[in-house]
Amino acid sequence: MGIALTGDIVDPATNQLAQCRKIQPYQANKTYLCPECNFDIRPGEGHFVVVPHLDHDARRHWHERCLMRALNREVKSNRSKGRRKRSHKRSNA
Ligand SMILES: [Zn+2]
Repeated sequence: MGIALTGDIVDPATNQLAQCRKIQPYQANKTYLCPECNFDIRPGEGHFVVVPHLDHDARRHWHERCLMRALNREVKSNRSKGRRKRSHKRSNA
């Protein structure tokens, strides 16, 4: 709660200022890949599109719950800035 999913947001995928728009089920007529869960967003499924203001080609389509999760993560990491609780030493390689 507390996060508006429409209007200007910071795109979790590119970290750029982006416009977020809701795609209604009747507007969804293609299959998209959600960058958060890597599963398909199927035609007829309502979802969100995030379009960076300066790079429209980098737009991504997200499940609502996935965008919410990614944005919450952003907010939390912004809030803890300066506290440095998270270690970046974990190796994912
Ligand atoms: Zn997803």
